Amino acid sequence: MSDTTWTNPETIALHAGWRADPSTGSVAVPIHQTTSFQFQDTGHAARLFALQELGMIYTRIMNPTVDVLEKRVAALEGGVAALAVGSGQAATTFTVMNLCEAGDNIVSSTDLYGGTWNLFANTLKQFGIEVRFVDPADPQNFVKATDDRTRAWYAETLPNPKLQVFPIAEVAALGRKIGIPLIMDNTAAPVICQPLKLGAAIVMHSTTKWIGGHGTAIGGVVVDGGNFDWEAHGDRFPTLNKPDPSYHGAVWTQAVKPLGPIAYIIRMRTCLLRDIGAPLAPMNAFLAIQGLETLPLRMERHNANALKAAAFLAGHPGVEKVIHPSLMEGEPKRRADATLKGGYGSLIGIELKGGKDAGQRFIEALKMFYHVANIGDARSLAIHPATTTHSQLDEQEQAASGVTPGYVRLSIGIEHIDDILADLDQALAAATGPGLKAAAE
Ligand SMILES: *Cc1c(COP(=O)(O)O)cnc(C)c1O
Repeated sequence: MSDTTWTNPETIALHAGWRADPSTGSVAVPIHQTTSFQFQDTGHAARLFALQELGMIYTRIMNPTVDVLEKRVAALEGGVAALAVGSGQAATTFTVMNLCEAGDNIVSSTDLYGGTWNLFANTLKQFGIEVRFVDPADPQNFVKATDDRTRAWYAETLPNPKLQVFPIAEVAALGRKIGIPLIMDNTAAPVICQPLKLGAAIVMHSTTKWIGGHGTAIGGVVVDGGNFDWEAHGDRFPTLNKPDPSYHGAVWTQAVKPLGPIAYIIRMRTCLLRDIGAPLAPMNAFLAIQGLETLPLRMERHNANALKAAAFLAGHPGVEKVIHPSLMEGEPKRRADATLKGGYGSLIGIELKGGKDAGQRFIEALKMFYHVANIGDARSLAIHPATTTHSQLDEQEQAASGVTPGYVRLSIGIEHIDDILADLDQALAAATGPGLKAAAE
């Protein structure tokens, strides 16, 4: 269970889930680089295996360093418990597999991270799990695509490249009416959004991005909101409500009741992590914790820098269009303001005058921004999706996903804003200068 003493993210990020090592006094979270844990006696071992007592057995299933990260992210998101895994992709996979059997389906927003799109459109299909994609512009689309084999709805809080904030509260409320949990990928909006408070049932993060924050380790985490009544809709959630033959016929919603409303996340640990693997390495958990400790402070600077960079870019003659929630109008702006608190995130899309060539020239001219596929690093990053992340799609498919030929994705870092603007300015001059001149002639 997570630490519920604090409610402010700045304090949670530094203190939740850990207070000095009882045996050594170590203040920093130790890296428990061990596969196994000594049992006190045979009775203790038997009780742990029978889940009569919770405790460390083997690092594939649980580890004290990983446990601190789990408790801390659970507290940050206002959830009851969490499970950390080896990557964001593993986290997403587990959120779905924990509820779906072959023949079941989920309904997902079309606005997704590319890796999630492939998992949903291709890989899960191989296991008989269907993903139905709907346009999130109208929340009712989720209801329309739902049938009695639908196990969950899935979306991202702040999906790129469109950067249109998902209507979490509206869709979660529609789902709760008919007994469908909303799973939110909150990777791009930690601290500025708490989906569980808006009605989502489950949250996942790629800790690789803003939580880790320094581009050092791949990781993922799933948080159980403890706010969804799996038992009230027993037929819809057989994995949690039917006897589990791998645990002597235990029914998860009944078996874990004394521990709290954590049937979903316990089942993910004891079944999926046990059988499939994909644990987070203790060293990588340590790196994620180290990043998490300064996340709220970094988010302030990420948000402030992105706001200034978006305004600067919007006034630049070489830029056709700037995509950032702060500059949107109408319903997308309303959703951003209703869902995000304290900032609009640090991703910015720009469409350059001069299309694809200008996009590539711009990337090549950047001196401080790194040219990488990552996002959410403390350093500023950039990529040209049309020739990289989205290059397998034809131009029409690219347009549908929000990627135009001149689109450049920026992940604004925490450097001094003057240096960020200077690098953008000189790269824009190099990329669009000749194009602008030609247009004027
Ligand atoms: C990167 C990312 C993922 C996948 O996470 P990995 O740690 O790279 O496996 C999932 N969702 C979003 C929004 C991401 O940015």
